[in-house]
Formats: sequence, C-alpha cells, structure tokens
Amino acid sequence: MPDTSIVVAEQAVDTIRDMKHQALTIEHAWGRNRPEYATKALTSLTHNLAELFSSAFSTDVKIFRDGELSLYVTAGIHFGVIFHGKHRDVTAPVEGDPDLSHGAKYAGRYCIAALDDGEPCLAPYTWRGGHTDDGGVPTCEGHDTLTATLPVPGEWSFHS
Ligand SMILES: [Zn+2]
Repeated sequence: MPDTSIVVAEQAVDTIRDMKHQALTIEHAWGRNRPEYATKALTSLTHNLAELFSSAFSTDVKIFRDGELSLYVTAGIHFGVIFHGKHRDVTAPVEGDPDLSHGAKYAGRYCIAALDDGEPCLAPYTWRGGHTDDGGVPTCEGHDTLTATLPVPGEWSFHS
C-alpha cells in the first residue's frame, strides 16, 4: 500500500486548535456539575481526530475548515467532522453576566440560580413567550435572573 499523505489546510489547523479549546473549556466549565458534558466533548474530539489521522485511507487526505468548530475532509470519499452543540437553543451572552466561557467559540447564557441543594441550576436560558421583537424575554422557569456565560456543550461526529 502506498504512503498516505495528509494535507491540513492552514485554516483547518486554527480550527483544530479552536476545537481543542472548546472541548477544554467545556470540561473546565461543566466538569464539576455536568461531567457527562465534559466526557462527551473530550472523548468525541479525541476519538474523531484519532480516527481521522489513523484511518488507512488509500488516497491523499486533505483536511479543510468547515465552520467554526468543524472540518471537511476529502480522502477519495468526502466527510465532515462536525460539532453538534445546542447553541441555537441557548440565548446569546449578555454583557454584565459573569463570563465563564474562557473565549469559547460557542457560548450561551445559562441560569446559575442556586437549587435547594445549593448547586447551580445550569439550565440554558431560553426564550419564553416569543422573542425580543414580540415582547418575549429569555428566562429560566421559576428562577430569578441570575445568569452566566458558559461554553455551549456539544460533541463531534463523522458525517459523510
Ligand atoms: Zn434555573
């Protein structure tokens, strides 16, 4: 079998760095209260990158950036390594909220009101009763406004 050459576009190198950063900030922000988020982000990223670089492709592999946290790969076949976060379901960060996102590409507004056991709620702050243009406000049902900006959890997967 001939040697496989892997070409990583310069923008893809930056994207891979951002992917690592997002996974590590998810671990940092969520690891204590939602360890499953940290596990999903870290294991899916390492698994998919290991798969990408260790697969026995018989043709040249080219890796491109495809969105802020995703890659597009050509290797005879075409596929993507795609980040699936729920960032569209979470309202955008608001200036003045504590920022615990540490520069994550995808960050959102989460409720940090204390629950009965003293732990933070951590539910995504979502729109209720419509959006800004029709008078709705983001909220966490039953909790006072107490929010922080956190990295949006998610995981990576292969898509052909
Ligand atoms: Zn809440």
